[in-house]
Amino acid sequence: MISGKTGLLALIGHPVSHSLSPAMHNAAFVADGLDFVYVCLDVGPDELSAAVKGLQALKLRGFNVTMPHKRTMVPLVDELDEEASISGAINTVMIEDSGLRGFNTDGGGMVMACQEAGIELSGRSVLLLGAGGTAAAIAVAFGNVGVGELHIANRNVERAAHLRNKLYGTGIKVPAIYPLDALEDEMPDAEIVINATPLGMKEGDPMPVPSGYVREGRAFCDAVYRPGTQTPLVQLARDRDVPVVAGDRMLLYQGVLAQKLWTGREPNVKAMDRAIS
Ligand code: NAP
Repeated sequence: MISGKTGLLALIGHPVSHSLSPAMHNAAFVADGLDFVYVCLDVGPDELSAAVKGLQALKLRGFNVTMPHKRTMVPLVDELDEEASISGAINTVMIEDSGLRGFNTDGGGMVMACQEAGIELSGRSVLLLGAGGTAAAIAVAFGNVGVGELHIANRNVERAAHLRNKLYGTGIKVPAIYPLDALEDEMPDAEIVINATPLGMKEGDPMPVPSGYVREGRAFCDAVYRPGTQTPLVQLARDRDVPVVAGDRMLLYQGVLAQKLWTGREPNVKAMDRAIS
């Protein structure tokens, strides 16, 4: 029952009406009798700063941030966690009396999804496809759980070099960067491959790696989430009996981590999972 004491949470983005986050979070609140409610707020690019001030004035507990605001949110917060700082992208905000705290739970979400799938990360060599905000957040989170070498391949190789520079000093070893379209000729022999590009989102998208690379001895993680269907990468990995994590598991666990920040307790993962399955 919503009352004057109900904790308010929101997702801000543009568009947001398609989002599964309200169903996912509210299911956990109902299942555990928590006095919180989560809604979607469509905020246009020119309205971000005013909207954030409004959310703060209205004393929301916190909010999620999605496209196109993940980067532009950064200068609007008072504090950043390591993943948000290095990735330059925020997906979760806590509103405190002292100010706004920005987090990025996408990388941690992918780590938890790998753990759920039984994919060991410690010491393993990784090929990261993409060098945007999500790729960077995943790189930091994977570094924090002790992955071995991290190879980066990106369409724009300068952006990959920029990410490598930002990771310098975090303890993550980045031995090589590759142009994404040259992977066919020069593939690192990685044990775990992560797709953090949008390839696979649209019908007819090319595979992010040559299909011959999808084989036994490797595990694949796809950040791309296509409701009701599988990306070609996930489909191929499943067909070949190769361990794979699909984007919906990352979506679930980035939400679990965000909810834990807002409520301070372990979220009801089963209820959240049922709501998006
Ligand atoms: P971003 O910051 O805009 O970065 C996009 C990355 O993908 C860049 O490395 C870009 O390369 C590359 N890219 C874009 N279009 C490409 C194409 N046609 N071919 C090859 N590479 C391409 O975006 P982001 O926030 O990192 O998001 C990346 C993906 O992760 C999106 O599909 C997003 O939906 C997904 N995601 C999923 C979850 C989840 O919970 N499942 C959470 C967050 C994000 P250039 O540098 O060359 O432009």
